[in-house]
Amino acid sequence: MTRRFVVIGHPIAHSLSPVMHGAAIAALGLDATYEARDVVPHELPSFVGELRDGALAGANVTIPHKVAIVSLCDRVDADARAVGAVNTLSVEGSRVVGTNTDVVGLFTSLAAHHDALAGRHAVILGAGGAARASVAVCERLGCASITIAARDRDKALPLADGRPSLCAISLLDREPLAEALARAALVIQASSATMGLEADAFVAALPLEALAAHTVVTELVYRPRRTALLAACEARGLITIDGTEMLVQQGAAALARWLGRSLDELPIEAMRVALHHALR
Ligand code: NAP
Repeated sequence: MTRRFVVIGHPIAHSLSPVMHGAAIAALGLDATYEARDVVPHELPSFVGELRDGALAGANVTIPHKVAIVSLCDRVDADARAVGAVNTLSVEGSRVVGTNTDVVGLFTSLAAHHDALAGRHAVILGAGGAARASVAVCERLGCASITIAARDRDKALPLADGRPSLCAISLLDREPLAEALARAALVIQASSATMGLEADAFVAALPLEALAAHTVVTELVYRPRRTALLAACEARGLITIDGTEMLVQQGAAALARWLGRSLDELPIEAMRVALHHALR
């Protein structure tokens, strides 16, 4: 029987998941489909029913449903709880299980640097869902301390959650930000600021001169692929990773779950090539 996978969101036409997963399904020669479906909030319960009754074999969930879907799952795993949002649904028997593969996706995208980042300081820019996933990743990396910098410090405070190794600051407070960047072995750009028209001004306001050589700067925004931040950090000779690597790895983690396969059994390079081609 053909296995049906979907990504839901509202709107959904912009999603790159069908390109990525379509490439994987073709490379694996699976009898499966992966489609984008526009779902509005009141349709979510009946959508989850399609997974529960076996009509769908798995799903990705994107904006604006990642938080609302949590309460509709029969179970959510530790990563989804840490982020407070679900981006992947799978089926165990008749139970719908929610996870958040952004955590493992970002963690895996940093694989070449895992040893260098353990015990070091990390700076996260932003305080939304992607920043929450970034906190979980820094903890998994064994970072000794984390600074969360948001334009509104009050929004970063809940992510720090009163823990002594986490600190919330305002992006506008240049001195503490420069001090945090100077200590950082890892910077995760997890805000949407580098996506839009304000990208240049956002980057110009960051005290990037404080960053030491060998700092790893990873960008979560993938549209554009080479953001103003990555361009500025490349010019300084820093190690940069663009947002497509996390996108590929979170997609691969979802597929691994649905198919019951390990990551090294998946055609990740075919997914990466398809994604890069779509973003050209
Ligand atoms: P979100 O929950 O809407 O959070 C966006 C964050 O960006 C908020 O903290 C927001 O601050 C901040 N922000 C927006 N414009 C800003 C500006 N001009 N200056 C400073 N901060 C600004 O979104 P999200 O889910 O965390 O996603 C953030 C970005 O990561 C998006 O571009 C998304 O596409 C990307 N992402 C990529 C992947 C991947 O696989 N590569 C995965 C997840 C997300 P306020 O609260 O003050 O508005």
